[in-house]
Amino acid sequence: MPKTAMPNTHGPVPLHNIPVSGLKGVGDKLAATLAKLGLNSVQDLLFHLPARYADRTRIADIAELQALQPAVIQGAITSSRVVFGKKRSLVVNLADDTGQVVLRFYFFTAAQQKLLSEGNCLRCYGEPRPGALGLEMYHPEYQAVQSLDDIEGLEDTLTPVYPLTDGLSQKRLRTLMLQALDMLDQSPPNELLPVEVSGYFDHCTLSEALHLAHNPPADADINSLMSGTHNCLQRLAFEELLAHNLTVQQTRLLHQQDPAPSLPSDDALKQKLLDQLPFKPTGAQQRVLKEIEADLSLNLPMHRLVQGDVGSGKTLVAALSALSALANGYQAALVAPTEILAEQHRNNFQQWLSALGFEVVWLAGKVTASQKRKALEKLASGEAHMAVGTHALFEDNVLFKKLGLVIIDEQHRFGVQQRLSLRKKGGEHCPHQLVMTATPIPRTLAMTAYADLELSIIDELPPGRTPVNTVMINQNKRPDVIARVRAACAEGQQAYWVCTLVEDSETLAAAAAEKTCELLREAAPELAIGLVHGRLKSKEKDEVMAAFKAADLHLLVATTVIEVGVDVPNASLMIIENPERLGLAQLHQIRGRVGRGQRASHCVLLYGHPLSKQGRSRLEVLRQSNDGFVIAEKDLELRGPGELLGTQQTGDMHFRLANLQRDAAMIERIHGVAKTLLQHHPDIVKALVSRWFNNQQEYVKA
Ligand code: ADP
Ligand code: MG
Repeated sequence: MPKTAMPNTHGPVPLHNIPVSGLKGVGDKLAATLAKLGLNSVQDLLFHLPARYADRTRIADIAELQALQPAVIQGAITSSRVVFGKKRSLVVNLADDTGQVVLRFYFFTAAQQKLLSEGNCLRCYGEPRPGALGLEMYHPEYQAVQSLDDIEGLEDTLTPVYPLTDGLSQKRLRTLMLQALDMLDQSPPNELLPVEVSGYFDHCTLSEALHLAHNPPADADINSLMSGTHNCLQRLAFEELLAHNLTVQQTRLLHQQDPAPSLPSDDALKQKLLDQLPFKPTGAQQRVLKEIEADLSLNLPMHRLVQGDVGSGKTLVAALSALSALANGYQAALVAPTEILAEQHRNNFQQWLSALGFEVVWLAGKVTASQKRKALEKLASGEAHMAVGTHALFEDNVLFKKLGLVIIDEQHRFGVQQRLSLRKKGGEHCPHQLVMTATPIPRTLAMTAYADLELSIIDELPPGRTPVNTVMINQNKRPDVIARVRAACAEGQQAYWVCTLVEDSETLAAAAAEKTCELLREAAPELAIGLVHGRLKSKEKDEVMAAFKAADLHLLVATTVIEVGVDVPNASLMIIENPERLGLAQLHQIRGRVGRGQRASHCVLLYGHPLSKQGRSRLEVLRQSNDGFVIAEKDLELRGPGELLGTQQTGDMHFRLANLQRDAAMIERIHGVAKTLLQHHPDIVKALVSRWFNNQQEYVKA
């Protein structure tokens, strides 16, 4: 950011290029304070919208005052006295024609007390609260007025109240804002929204919208301003979301410039894989596979996101996609976020693909140096056809001879950068990308977070699954729950007991799980109980898992490491301790470990000390629904996009004016408008991206 404005040779300097230090009264110190709020340019300042508004444009009737709603009132003092309660205070009664209210002051000088004496007329501004004497205003702002109908000095516009930081006052920010609005009038920004779009917002221009936001007229609808649903504010949010969508779609177009190999599917080979399975693909699996195969047969790199609830059978879709690459002499890579999940994939892929004559190698943190060297050689020479592993696959020394397809499981745990780093490992061609997630992301959110990806949805579970019956039980009934586990295991069922993270620490969670395991072994000595957590060696974990799978163990105590990958159809009961610590989407994932067999399954949410009303209604969602999409929508509503997408992605999505939850309804439309602009109006695209993402080119390069 230049220290001063550029010389003005080609028309006005855009406001995003004028640093705040270009405003009167802003020195280095104030500029640094503003920077703490992310306010570096005059435009940043204008996009810093009020958190709320105070209405000082009119005098309210005292009778219409409501608790916690600040207002201006005017009245005559009918009494004024010092009372000695727990704390000494000055209690002033103020009355107008409609009613009376108490003003209370804990600190006051003799001069103030004199001004606040009986018979004087006052104008006050403050927030009424329920007090000992009905509604009371504590330490309101006040001034003397000549008479009750004196209306001198009321504000013409609603008063904005801005988010602040230390060292910055409302008054100071307000004076800067007025200067910034002047500059806006001197060099009004171009209207970049197409006419038909601005029609949705009554053709409110960017300048008009900003004026309204910072100086709303007395008759503006204060409620819609505060909630951000006012026409003009919606127009601002629309433009920001549009600019964001454009940057992401631009990224996609950029990637499509590199040619990818055409990988038509090989039906005979596919049939050979399917013949190995004890089941037929569901209709949804077939449809999604068709969508993928259509992409793979083109010379353009695929970027496709497959969403499918836990247990919907994404692995098979991934394997059949990989087969298209292998059939054409190309390699495929599959990356999973955890070792357990990666191992599960390795087992499936090795079994399915080696029967067809393909070699699958394994790359994870825990393979020995010599195994790893061998795997790397085989990938580089082309002797191995497929690599399955964890993020170890992202390392620089992993190179492929002819990489045709990259599959990423559980996308939301990887950053965009990591995902894209795999693009460069392919040799001459850019590999296709298939991303799979079991956290169903509401469509509007996916269109924003993953506007660079096409979407496919596996919206059908394999036949024969019965929904998991979920109940909520207080931890003080733990003995009953243990009795239930014993009874179920006595009948030959198996169960999970899941200990949730205390903090974001697998070490602490492991300790908690060890303790729980000990207590359960004491309480149920006849049961064979195993323990898995993230601190165990890979081999130990494998042994325990294998024993559970073989039904040598009745009960498996685990941390949330079993969230993914574990597939034991005979397990039909799950206890989740302190479920209130986790997000709904994650709980749904964990719960997906049961309900995989023929028997009706049960999940007990064993909650800790008294649940708040909100906490209870949150868990209630899980009790009522087994549909990952419904649950994800609810999670989005309750906790915002950050929790659903993980921190990696939300770092990319800091909106200044828009709010994904509030503005979800516009996203479809924005997506369409962005597509049209990219096709027909590159100049507008450039101007919009530069206006909103001036200093954030990494968006486009990501
Ligand atoms: P996820 O989508 O959660 O990754 P998986 O691919 O692990 O699901 O599949 C879950 C289970 O369902 C596995 O045991 C798998 O073998 C089985 N499965 C997958 N597709 C089908 C199908 N079409 N019919 C029956 N079972 C299936
Ligand atoms: Mg899976």
